[in-house]
Amino acid sequence: MPELPEVESTVRYLRERIEGLAIKSSEVLWHRTIAHNRAPLFSDLVSGSAITSVFRCGKFVGMRLEGSSEQFLFTHLRMSGSLDVLPDSMPLEPHDRVVLYLSNGKSLRFNDTRKFGRMYLVSSPEEITARIGIEPLSDSFTPEMLDSILCARKGAVKPTLLNQSLIAGLGNIYVDESLWTAQVHPLTPCNKIPQEKRAALHAAIVSILSKAVSLLGTDFGDGVVDGGMYSPVVYGREGEPCKRCKSEIRRIVVGQRGTHICPACQSRRRTAKAKGQKDATRGRNASRAPSRRGRKSR
Ligand SMILES: [Zn+2]
Repeated sequence: MPELPEVESTVRYLRERIEGLAIKSSEVLWHRTIAHNRAPLFSDLVSGSAITSVFRCGKFVGMRLEGSSEQFLFTHLRMSGSLDVLPDSMPLEPHDRVVLYLSNGKSLRFNDTRKFGRMYLVSSPEEITARIGIEPLSDSFTPEMLDSILCARKGAVKPTLLNQSLIAGLGNIYVDESLWTAQVHPLTPCNKIPQEKRAALHAAIVSILSKAVSLLGTDFGDGVVDGGMYSPVVYGREGEPCKRCKSEIRRIVVGQRGTHICPACQSRRRTAKAKGQKDATRGRNASRAPSRRGRKSR
């Protein structure tokens, strides 16, 4: 599932290609993709509007539409959604759910194999953004802000970091990466994490997300981000050696989510002060050439 870096990568891809263009018409091929039963009205509402900006909000791709009135189109990619800009002459694919025909002879296509993705057409962005927590790459996300989130809660740290109404954009991959980097067990009660570990966790979240954004996210071969070059340090590496201590990476389940940890580095009993963190992600994929985003099959 795409997280902050993958959604940011999608936003940058779209910004270059559709900002400033007008929507000539649209086609909804799977009605439930358009939230709030607005599919029958969707084409009338968006046709003739100009896409004046494309932005990210948590895991949402946002677009500001200006027509007879101002509207906002938010897309949540969920499990398998992707947004591509292709020439109108290219035939639609079976899993294309919504198509916006643009003024330059191209179309924006929302392709979603598993049909969990949603598009929300709203008149005010607050209808979506009010439920979204702090942006972890914004100046407002300070160590003190993370302290205030963690110290007020007794629940396990991983589900807390995944809660989109607290911190926006973190998902399973980057939470596992951050907890490993800060050497915090995912089941540690939030209010039991020592101050130096909270500081290490804050630094890990910011540095890992920044690095992943600069590498266009992680490419899982699902078509969401082709060419994403972030290579997880712990996520998905069950049975492989920890890059810090060589212990075997284990997969456990936390809050119904598959979770990868190093049982030695992230021992629940371990209370030693955080040591200087090395950039353990360095080096992997260094020789891999960047490739442009876009569905390879097309
Ligand atoms: Zn380890």
